[in-house]
Amino acid sequence: MHEELVALEELQALDLKLLKYRDELTEVPKNLEAMREDVAHVGELLKREQTRLEEAEEWRGSREKEIVIHNELLAKAKSKLMASRNEKENKAAQREIDALRKTIQEREEETLKIMEATEQYRVAIKAHTAEFAELEKQLQASEEEGKARLIEAHNMIEQHEAERRRLTERVPDKIRRLYERIHQRLGRAVVEVVDGHCLGCNMDLSPQMYIEVQRGDTIHQCPTCHRLLMFKPQTDQSDSS
Ligand SMILES: [Zn+2]
Repeated sequence: MHEELVALEELQALDLKLLKYRDELTEVPKNLEAMREDVAHVGELLKREQTRLEEAEEWRGSREKEIVIHNELLAKAKSKLMASRNEKENKAAQREIDALRKTIQEREEETLKIMEATEQYRVAIKAHTAEFAELEKQLQASEEEGKARLIEAHNMIEQHEAERRRLTERVPDKIRRLYERIHQRLGRAVVEVVDGHCLGCNMDLSPQMYIEVQRGDTIHQCPTCHRLLMFKPQTDQSDSS
């Protein structure tokens, strides 16, 4: 009977490792997907910044064109002023010149403001482009690492399952099925009894059961958590975790 418990404990150690590797099979792709989404999001923000810069430059271009046109109009108005023949024409030309100068000044101020803004956009885009490149590099490294981890996990699962098949031959079917039911529900199905209590749920066993578990003639289940109980003499320092 003790021999069977030892085999069960080995089986459990394998099963806990299998759980870990199976977790990796879902966790690794999930983490990579989250990382890909983050990188895509940063890429999207960067694209938006670039669009904003392009729009600002286009706007500045149209202001500059307006300045050119207004300067041409101003030159014409100045000729009109020179050619004015009376007070009325003189005043009209002067008014036109004043209005044009005002517009040109406004456009020039706007152009200056937009130039300051585009300069800031350029600085931000430069920084974000570098960050984005760094993120892409990290993602690529993580993709490669993830791929290696998945291959490793698949290999380990295969290896552990082969070992598991060999181990299960050492355990009677009835006990193995019982073990598997508990393992599925609680993970750790074989637990030690120390100082009369179950290490699975920390509840005390009856003195009779404690003695029987220590004797190891039959396999006992904890009356509280139903895990399979095993006793290891105190001198044995090895543990199953
Ligand atoms: Zn228990």
